[in-house]
Amino acid sequence: MTPALSIVVPCFNEEGCIGTLHERLSAAARKTAGDGYEIVLVNDGSKDRSWEMMRELASRDAHVIAINLSRNHGHQLALTAGLDLCRGETILIIDADLQDPPELLPEMMKVLREQQADVVYGVRKSRRGETAFKRATAHGFYRLLSRATEVEIPLDAGDFRLMSRRALDALLAMPEQARFIRGMVAWIGFRQVPFAYDRDERFAGETKYPLKKMVRFALDALTGFSSAPLKLASLAGFALAIGSVLLILYIAYAWLAGRIIPGWTSLMLVVVVLGSVQMFVLALMGEYIGRLYNESKHRPLYIVQEVAGDERHEARLGY
Ligand code: UDP
Ligand code: MG
Repeated sequence: MTPALSIVVPCFNEEGCIGTLHERLSAAARKTAGDGYEIVLVNDGSKDRSWEMMRELASRDAHVIAINLSRNHGHQLALTAGLDLCRGETILIIDADLQDPPELLPEMMKVLREQQADVVYGVRKSRRGETAFKRATAHGFYRLLSRATEVEIPLDAGDFRLMSRRALDALLAMPEQARFIRGMVAWIGFRQVPFAYDRDERFAGETKYPLKKMVRFALDALTGFSSAPLKLASLAGFALAIGSVLLILYIAYAWLAGRIIPGWTSLMLVVVVLGSVQMFVLALMGEYIGRLYNESKHRPLYIVQEVAGDERHEARLGY
């Protein structure tokens, strides 16, 4: 039996959120889908009690399916694991920290139906309880991304969204390792409708996106959806070529005028500028090559260690 609604939640060290998350999600799901819903919780290698709590929920509530990944695979891959396994006709993606209010689900469902959309994506009107640094970098990031890409990726939209089964199947047909899911969904097309909402504070715990993960996420997005950075090399080459023509003219003039040119300063300048531009461009190319290498290995996107609350998987794994 396929449930009308699946709710997919990636969780990494979210023991403080899971109890309330389950209550609020269940209430919202019951309102929209009656009994026909499932909640798919994905444990992304948590170090706290998240997995024990999820397994307990799965044994207590038949609506809950809990997936335990073999280690921390990262937000986007954990989400992919849940999306792969869910069976619903309509799918809600939501974070575990309750920054995106589950109570909006009935309204989003209404928009999906009335506008016959395939995707209803949340757009953050405001972000409460996030640092000025996070807000500023997020703001800059989405604008830079939209300038660099041809696909129209909506500004200030996270992964909080409602999707139809056919949109999800299209998403799951994309095999890439470096996954920037909100961009991939935009790439799919169909009818996609924004849904403005106010983002709450985290319910408990700290952000699971430290600077390092944020940088990697941003680079995956940029390299996955644009080759514009590679073109910076030609821009830099062009600018340097103009500079060198000017320099040659000046040198010729100085020589004709019989001026002695003291060499050290200008030489050092040229060496330093050329060297750093070349290194920068090399590093950029390295980013792309590293990703090419990663994709070429064709490894599975994630490894599942255990699934609780889903008879299909329990049968397959033999317990
Ligand atoms: N998350 C995850 N794996 C990770 C990092 C984060 O599954 O390696 C989950 C996390 O539990 C949460 C969601 O991804 O449900 C978004 O993370 P978070 O709320 O910390 O990000 P922020 O809202 O601060 O950008
Ligand atoms: Mg959050």
